Amino acid sequence: MSAQLFVVATPIGHLDDISYRAINVLKSVKVIAAEDTRTSALLLKHFNISTPLTACHDHNESNKVDQLIQRLLLGEDIALISDAGTPLISDPGFKLVRAAQENHIRVIPVPGACAAIAALSAVGLPSDRFSFEGFLPSKSSQRILNLEKLKDETQTLIFYEAPHRILECVKDMVNTFGADRPVGFAREITKTFETIKKMTLSELVEFIANDHHQQKGEIVLVVGGATQEKDMEQEKLDQLLNRLLQDLSVKAASQLAADLTGIKKKVAYQRALELTDKL
Ligand code: SAM
Repeated sequence: MSAQLFVVATPIGHLDDISYRAINVLKSVKVIAAEDTRTSALLLKHFNISTPLTACHDHNESNKVDQLIQRLLLGEDIALISDAGTPLISDPGFKLVRAAQENHIRVIPVPGACAAIAALSAVGLPSDRFSFEGFLPSKSSQRILNLEKLKDETQTLIFYEAPHRILECVKDMVNTFGADRPVGFAREITKTFETIKKMTLSELVEFIANDHHQQKGEIVLVVGGATQEKDMEQEKLDQLLNRLLQDLSVKAASQLAADLTGIKKKVAYQRALELTDKL
């Protein structure tokens, strides 16, 4: 008699980003458990979905889970949605999904928009391995502690951040990850003022500080992993040495490169030798 729990992704801005399957599921279930029923009522109205809504958010999830599980066990299909994007991804729903599994209720994902994945797909940073970090703590001291732990992580890092904290957060990243670490800034994805940019962390501080519009709306930060920064430094050194080697000896070019970049002369010399080998 047990029914199914559908975990349904909804758009993160552009309403066309809902799937046919999501609409059909939302129409067919007995009830939709939503984070904020007023927000979701607008979405349902847009798609002519008349299924009743019931609130299931961070503050009532524990109590609500029991009620919803009872309804599922009685044979009522339920859909879980959040205000936007994929439920459970920095959104409520985990307790309900876990309880459903424990009660041998089938949980069916209906995939769709997720801000983290949308940002990663467009900012132009390595996407083969990444770590989703969600929201950092709002207190700066706590945030810096978390960032320190991630400093040497080589995977691409994805963060959600509130607009009123974005400048402080990126400044803290400059201080922990270094000014030259590459970062993708994805703001208002799929919406009118969508902004997708890639630059260094220090450039991003300047970009945000000089344009208050960049401190509004919804934001995902995608930070390049630790080795990518080293790759970038290596690339810059190679570019410099290649240019210097056109006019100077290996010794003079590596001495000048070491003076200009602050790297050890021995390292610059070794690299210059390798590059002349390839020339
Ligand atoms: N569950 C959602 C998902 O699948 O992406 C995330 C919900 S979380 C409460 C909200 C955060 O996601 C925002 O503060 C922002 O960091 C990010 N976000 C959501 N929609 C976005 C959008 N259209 N553009 C950029 N970031 C967005």
